[in-house]
Amino acid sequence: MVCRNLCERLYSKIIFGKSHYEGGKKYCRRCEVYYCHTGVFCPCCGMALRMSPTNKRDKERLRQSQLRREEEQDRIIRIIKRIKK
Ligand SMILES: [Zn+2]
Ligand SMILES: [Zn+2]
Repeated sequence: MVCRNLCERLYSKIIFGKSHYEGGKKYCRRCEVYYCHTGVFCPCCGMALRMSPTNKRDKERLRQSQLRREEEQDRIIRIIKRIKK
């Protein structure tokens, strides 16, 4: 299947300062666009959409945000423990 230019209409605008994947977007390599799409395949060309970051910078960013979330959870757990004592 080929690109039918549907992607141009379906294309979701990039949220600045945020990773594409963090925003739940998927990338089509053939159409070279990001979608806010729940399916596994591109609605335009039918190619499988990429869901996980392959880009090193995106990976690092995702890792960092996960790390921050874990730290935040740790902090909350510590506070709860202190209250219980
Ligand atoms: Zn397309
Ligand atoms: Zn596509």
